[in-house]
Amino acid sequence: MISIWKNLNKLRWFVLLLVFTLLVLLPYFHVYQNFTSAHAYDLLADSEKEIYDIMEWITSPFVSDPARDLNALKGTTWSGTLFGLKLSDPLAFLAHIASTQSFYWALFVSTLIPIGLTMLLGRFYCGWICPGGLIYDLADKLAEWIKRAGVPLRRNRKFDLRLKYIVLLVGILISAFTSWVALSTIYPPAIVGREIYYYVTTGALGAGTGFFVFTLLFDLLVARHGFCRYVCPGGGVYALLGKYRLFRIQRKVEPCNDCGKCNKACMFVLDPMRDGFGIECNNCTACIAACPEDALVFVRGIKDCADQGPGHAGPIYMKKIAEEKSTPKEIG
Ligand code: SF4
Ligand code: SF4
Repeated sequence: MISIWKNLNKLRWFVLLLVFTLLVLLPYFHVYQNFTSAHAYDLLADSEKEIYDIMEWITSPFVSDPARDLNALKGTTWSGTLFGLKLSDPLAFLAHIASTQSFYWALFVSTLIPIGLTMLLGRFYCGWICPGGLIYDLADKLAEWIKRAGVPLRRNRKFDLRLKYIVLLVGILISAFTSWVALSTIYPPAIVGREIYYYVTTGALGAGTGFFVFTLLFDLLVARHGFCRYVCPGGGVYALLGKYRLFRIQRKVEPCNDCGKCNKACMFVLDPMRDGFGIECNNCTACIAACPEDALVFVRGIKDCADQGPGHAGPIYMKKIAEEKSTPKEIG
């Protein structure tokens, strides 16, 4: 069972890359869908014919009528359709309620699967799905290489983790007073999906790219995964929804040797080495993959266990036991 947990991090990278690849392919699918609906191949420019031919080659094994069948895949991670299943980010639902002051049942129903999964798995969206999260994770690897090359990067500034709830509240109030879905302009997964779409369909990038680069620099130069931890309004929604998640990681104290590799691997700067997971843990499993003693496992339970102290295979605990053994016991 443990080897399954250890491999989950590889699966996570695969899922992140798959989501990102789909986000890149979807606009091309829709450009191709428009071309086929227009029945105008001969009128296309050479560059458009190239897109048409490549998309036809990719989709022909799965799709018989592109104008109809490609409707099964639409949208972005903000709100979209995946093989007919409508899925929306809970933040999209909140932002739309605030901006329109109306309740959309269809939109609400499309959030039920993400909400249900978050109640089971916590902020898993941030670690497993978010296309912005993928880029931040890659930036984290880049930062490690830069540090190894001898360039000092201080990414350890601390802010109040509740800042993201203030951002969320302010964004909702702005929507309520202006009918503008302000949060989608600073929400990385919405930005990434929208900018890719923009680029494919117009050949240009919007202001969102500039904002996203700013968040990347914040991560690289100020605080590790700082935007996700301190600012992201969607991260705030997912953290709250996942507070009492049913599946969480726990440390087995007996095999733990206090090596600290789990803490180093945790991009959310949590403290798995001393049982500090909490509301922010996104169940990314990077700590499990890093643990040489297989001391981190998934358990069922709505709360983390309290700090269990030093690992029993580590030097602090062993020294304590040796001291206890060498201390003569009082008689009587
Ligand atoms: S504690 Fe582990 S699972 Fe949670 S965010 Fe950190 S590395 Fe990921
Ligand atoms: S849980 Fe694993 S990685 Fe973390 S300190 Fe213990 S042995 Fe090391």
